[in-house]
Amino acid sequence: MTMDNTVTQAHEAEKSKAETMRSKDDVLLSVQDLKIWFELRKFGFGISGYVHAVDGVSFDLHYGETIAIVGESGCGKTTLMKSILALYQPTDGEIYFEGRRLSKLRSSEMREYRSNVGYVQQDPYGALPPFMNVQTILEEPMIINGIKDKEERRERIYRVLEEVKMSPPEDFLEKFPHMLSGGQQQRIVLARAMELEPKLIVADEPVSMLDASVRVEILRLMQSLQKRHDLAVIYITHDLSTVRYFSERVFVMYAGQAVEKTLIDSIVHDPLHPYSQALMEATSDPDAENATRFRDVPPGEPPSLVKPPSGCRFHPRCPYKIDGLCEVEMPPHFTPKPNQMVACWLYR
Ligand code: SF4
Repeated sequence: MTMDNTVTQAHEAEKSKAETMRSKDDVLLSVQDLKIWFELRKFGFGISGYVHAVDGVSFDLHYGETIAIVGESGCGKTTLMKSILALYQPTDGEIYFEGRRLSKLRSSEMREYRSNVGYVQQDPYGALPPFMNVQTILEEPMIINGIKDKEERRERIYRVLEEVKMSPPEDFLEKFPHMLSGGQQQRIVLARAMELEPKLIVADEPVSMLDASVRVEILRLMQSLQKRHDLAVIYITHDLSTVRYFSERVFVMYAGQAVEKTLIDSIVHDPLHPYSQALMEATSDPDAENATRFRDVPPGEPPSLVKPPSGCRFHPRCPYKIDGLCEVEMPPHFTPKPNQMVACWLYR
């Protein structure tokens, strides 16, 4: 047995001891009635309105749980993600991580929070500094987060590169991002997100810019890392077909709001909200062997978030609109089936 294997096994044993002390029912992240509005300003006239990018979103995420947040461009999912990464302050509502309010964290606590949340960007090439080689890219976050021991940093880099299947690691350490394929770049982004041993990974459309041939590979790699490390994952995507790779629950967002929250099987086999149904209709499978469907996208355009439609925000596009109700009153959340919440008057 090599020294590296011994270190890895001791490390895994220590981690699993810590993990048994918490329950899977414990809440890791809680988003409570979150609103993120951006001011619109006219020069010399002050605030002329607000972009209601996220408008009253709530959910709990448990340790080791995976959820997908799904919707078209402009639905607010990226703004929601950035507020979870503490890049935006809430206009209203709160985000809690392990019971602590993000908006109240001091700078040292915020540094600890950031080390607990790994971020996988959409564009791997844009996410990696072109002037750094792989070793420097992976070493820098550890130095920033106070890992002073050079040997420990080396062990972590080797371990994480093996985990993302960049093996043997020494073949990649001196390479710069432009010398790697798109799939390899995304593996390095994943390695960087994993190396500080986060409790949560936020993945923003992690395969949408990759060739079709490597998408499934990266999704399966993320799935295996999630299982091995019992990671919580928030997976942001416009493509419902990819969520089944590692999501347990799905939130469908439309115009800044969650319109359906349910389990992955329910959204695939029995979506309830007319918008979720339209999204499912537009779904193709990233795995070529299963790519049997590719249908029309939902008709119409997402609404303006400056002046969102009255009542149900989907009503201008909805084929089932109930006249006199849907365009007047915003539907509350109904639960027509266990574990399936839907904001639609059809289920009143
Ligand atoms: Fe359609 Fe009305 Fe349901 Fe909105 S509330 S999705 S407009 S049926």
